[in-house]
Formats: sequence, structure tokens, C-alpha cells
Amino acid sequence: MRRIVSSVLICCLVCLLAGCSPQVQRTVFAMDTVMDLQLWGEDAEEAADQVQTLLQSLEKKWSATAEDSVIGQLNRGKDVLLEQTDDAFLQSVLAYGDMTGGAFDPMLGNVSRAWGFYGQQYRVPTDAQIARALEDKRWDLGGVIKGYAGQQAAQLLANMQIDRAVMSLGGNIQTYGQKQDGTPWIIGIQNPAGGDPIGTVSVTGTAAVVTSGDYQRFFEEDGIRYHHILDPKTGKPARSGLSSVTVICRDGTGADVLSTALFVMGLTDAIELWEERDDFEAVFITEAGDVYATEGAAFSGCGHEVIERAN
Ligand code: AMP
Ligand code: MG
Repeated sequence: MRRIVSSVLICCLVCLLAGCSPQVQRTVFAMDTVMDLQLWGEDAEEAADQVQTLLQSLEKKWSATAEDSVIGQLNRGKDVLLEQTDDAFLQSVLAYGDMTGGAFDPMLGNVSRAWGFYGQQYRVPTDAQIARALEDKRWDLGGVIKGYAGQQAAQLLANMQIDRAVMSLGGNIQTYGQKQDGTPWIIGIQNPAGGDPIGTVSVTGTAAVVTSGDYQRFFEEDGIRYHHILDPKTGKPARSGLSSVTVICRDGTGADVLSTALFVMGLTDAIELWEERDDFEAVFITEAGDVYATEGAAFSGCGHEVIERAN
């Protein structure tokens, strides 16, 4: 059942930090994107160094384009002896992929390449090229690595004297700890059409808020927009009627897998999956600009429809 609510748009893109500036703010370029770290606590400086090192080492290890990365080696058919945590990560990605019924497919590397999303060599491939790329499977963890990185970073902070942190990893938000005044973290959701944020979600403690959107990476040819989220069934940019999906989840890997997968699945199937599970919440924005938020998403913003559980 759904109910319509309308509330005041709260214009904020980044977390509102209770008027308290971070002890350490660090900008890092990794995984082809700008990352912003804000940390509070005795070990803030040391923690920023360690998170920066972690992000750069994860990029090196899991890059789909670097020949010497784990992915590069797996894609060349080499036997790679994985460390236990790395093996567990790949297993969890595959398990999450199964849970999405294949909407999340970490083996679309050649398809992304065929569309020129590696190195911004954009082009529209022929149907035959797409079919070949779908057959010739290659790892690509671009749809999960930033969420996993946020999760790993939060685990690292847990072993240090850190009170709280907010990390924006290319738009994926990972919070850590409680805000000083005890109020929730407030995180803005971008309007795919541009301009002011469409609203906010609020989360308490350590959580991941991850958005997949057709506006994040795309090119246009003959007036058609081709974006980077691919439908594994067609090998083409997913046209599910959605323009963005934000997932809120305690597990960063899960949040990132799900935001990509729910985008591919479309609103109806995405809501069905949400109803079957109790470990995530989501906000959907359709191509027409309609906004739907699951009841636990704590969404506040423009007029939207709240999705409630059937029972
Ligand atoms: P995200 O921005 O998290 O939705 O991830 C998009 C990135 O994930 C793309 O740039 C590709 O590297 C990869 N990708 C694209 N489509 C899929 C898919 N259906 N399943 C898994 N990864 C995908
Ligand atoms: Mg993702």
C-alpha cells in the first residue's frame, strides 16, 4: 500500500554537521573520482592517512583497467591466490548478485568497454559487438567498489580513536559513529535534472547511503543519452523508467550492489525485492521526476509517495 505525502524541501547536498567543522578534512582522488573525508577524534589525522592509503590500495587491487590488479589478472585467466578478505569480498559480491536475480552482474567488463566507458572513448557498439561482449565475460567491480571501500574504511576507523566521520566517496556516503548532538546524519539526494537537491534522508550511526543515477556518467549521440548502468540482459544502458536509486544500508557493499541492481530492475521489481528483505531502504526517482521512498528511508523533501510494507 502507498500513501502520498508532501513536505518541505530541505535544501542540503551534504551532511548537516550540527554546526561543527571536522577536525580533519581531506580530499583524495581515487577510483576515478573525488573523495572527501571528514573526521573527528583524537586519531583524526592518522585515520585520514590510513583511509587515504586504504582507498588507494583498493583502487590498485580492484581496478578493471590496470593490468596488474587482481581483476586485471583474473581477466587474463591467471590463477590468483586471494587473501581471505579479498576472497570473502568476491564471494559476497557474487552472492549479492544472485540475490538481485542477475540484475547486478560483476562480469560486464567487456560490455562497459564496448560502450567506451573505460577511458571515455564513448561509442555506440553494434548489436553483434554487444552480443560478443556479453559472451566474453570479464570482471568489473565498478558497481560495488566504492561501497565496499566505505565499509572497509568504517571498519578501519572502528579500531582507532575516532568519534565520528562522514566520507563522501564519489557521491557514495559512508557515515561512522553518532553526531555530537545525537541527531541523525542528514544526507542530500541529488536531483537528476540538476539544481537543488530533491530532498534528504537521515541515518543514525554507521551506515552507507549510495546513489546510482543515469546522470552520473553518460554520453549523447544523435540526441540519445547512453549512461553507464547496463542491463545484463541486453548489454545496453538500462531503461527501466528510473533516473536514480538511492539505497540506505548498514552494509556498504550491499548498498552499492543494490543501488545498481534496483536501477536495472525498475520500480515494481525493486519494491518487490525490498518487501522480501529487511536490510535496506530506498528512494527512487523516475525519469518523469516522480519520487518514491520506502517507509524506513526517512526521506524528507519534495512531494513523494511513501511505499509501505504490505503487511
Ligand atoms: P554504480 O554507479 O554503482 O551504479 O555502478 C555503475 C558501474 O558498475 C558502471 O560504471 C560499470 O562499471 C558497472 N556496471 C554497469 N552495469 C552494471 C550491472 N548491471 N551490474 C554490475 N555492475 C554494473
Ligand atoms: Mg552500485
